[in-house]
Amino acid sequence: MHATPKTAPETIAAWLAESSRAVAFTGAGISTESGIPDFRSPGGVWAKYSPVYYDDFLSSATARHEYWRQKSEAHPEMARAEPNAGHRTLAAWEASGRIAGVITQNIDELHQRAGSRNVWELHGTAMKIACTDCSARYEAGPLVARFVETDEVPLCEKCGGARLKHATISFGQTLLPEVLNGCAELARAADLFFAIGSSLVVEPAASLPRLAADSGGKLVIVNRDETPLDGLAASVIRAPIGETLSAIDAVLARRRENP
Ligand code: ZN
Repeated sequence: MHATPKTAPETIAAWLAESSRAVAFTGAGISTESGIPDFRSPGGVWAKYSPVYYDDFLSSATARHEYWRQKSEAHPEMARAEPNAGHRTLAAWEASGRIAGVITQNIDELHQRAGSRNVWELHGTAMKIACTDCSARYEAGPLVARFVETDEVPLCEKCGGARLKHATISFGQTLLPEVLNGCAELARAADLFFAIGSSLVVEPAASLPRLAADSGGKLVIVNRDETPLDGLAASVIRAPIGETLSAIDAVLARRRENP
């Protein structure tokens, strides 16, 4: 693997200014800067408990109760979190037409709360509850509160079903093909692709930056740690995300004022 030279914010700002179809892909790293723990990290929920697989959720009331217990424990931190400078910069770039949209592995809706409109949630959202028996969807907050209060998995108000579940992709569940296809299309068309805060090891999500690079897009990786795709990138930045995107944005603002 060849070493990638350090790239100044000025260079990346210039790439972004020249690009006509940039896309951002985000992982847990952007959410940890808002105080949301990475559930895969040591001490995270998934390290503490065994995950409930989708088939077990569907077939067993005990598994459903355990699922709700785990999700309810993780919920308050997520609900309290606020979008950070990284989320806000990406939302501003979308509003000004600099990026076409955001693909995210995160389930916290912080991109939407920052103002991003075209958000592709690969793993769904934990801020909504979906009935697995009918098409009903609910805000997660009130139902999580009810579970914590009663210690009983809430029933679907629409169909009476007992299998309400967070609208996330569970273990043993495949990603939605329409979401995956939409993301692949965005990645393929991207002339500049930011991979932000993702270790780029979880498939098939990790294949999106590769797809962008293989289709001629310039890949910029912003992540605390090394990733397997660093060698494909035009630039690799190992610095905090909010700080990095803000620095690029500051260059763009200066260019606007002094063209
Ligand atoms: Zn229902």
